[in-house]
Amino acid sequence: MKITFIGSSTCIPDLKYETASFVINGKHLVDTGWNAVLKMREYSIEPLSIKSLIITHLHQDHYIGLPQFLFYMGLKKRTEALHIIGPKEHLMQVVNSAFDFLQISRFPELEVSSLLVPLSPGQTFEEEELHFSTCAAKHVSGSGAPENALAYKVIESTTKKSFAFTGDTSFHPPIAEFAKGLPLLIHDAAHTSPKDAARIAKMAEVERLFLIHYSQERASSVLEEAQEVFENSFLAREGETIEL
Ligand SMILES: [Zn+2]
Ligand SMILES: [Zn+2]
Repeated sequence: MKITFIGSSTCIPDLKYETASFVINGKHLVDTGWNAVLKMREYSIEPLSIKSLIITHLHQDHYIGLPQFLFYMGLKKRTEALHIIGPKEHLMQVVNSAFDFLQISRFPELEVSSLLVPLSPGQTFEEEELHFSTCAAKHVSGSGAPENALAYKVIESTTKKSFAFTGDTSFHPPIAEFAKGLPLLIHDAAHTSPKDAARIAKMAEVERLFLIHYSQERASSVLEEAQEVFENSFLAREGETIEL
């Protein structure tokens, strides 16, 4: 199983660096930051080869690239349905808004077929070679309103390789239970301190921790803080592919 980071930065991306987002096996995109289409192309992933979009939660920095992504597919005459998966609250609203923004009723030639998979925490689903399970993350918006955010566990059916990832979350021990014993955990470092993300990795006894959604300017101290608690901590680096 291959994971390519197309962005690892904060909600306002650092110059040259994209918001947290990655692609699994070249065809399953997790979240769409500001420039997902351009970043995929920069890192040699053709956006048309994306079969499913997995959204961790419906905050803007995790879906703001959706209209561009749909526009690209519309221009390229994609016929295959794009599966769009995410927390059931607001998923349809956000996807419909993206199509409305593209004025699909006025430009029907840009229509892209999509299949929505709305999820509640604890639900599972299959996407081609991957089996996904979910658990609730713990996340609030800037105004303090609770957000329905998911963490996901992925198992590749052919190889049985697996890993887990969070979207935005604060320190939330159930995530350690959810990721128990996995080879890899990709964890938010914007809403959890690097130390606390490392505590989750340690409690989960994962083999490796990759931090994502961190300020590129603070990268070296983010890594140091995490490694003090959990030695096998790494930074998700934009453009890097890791293999399991
Ligand atoms: Zn975020
Ligand atoms: Zn968020």
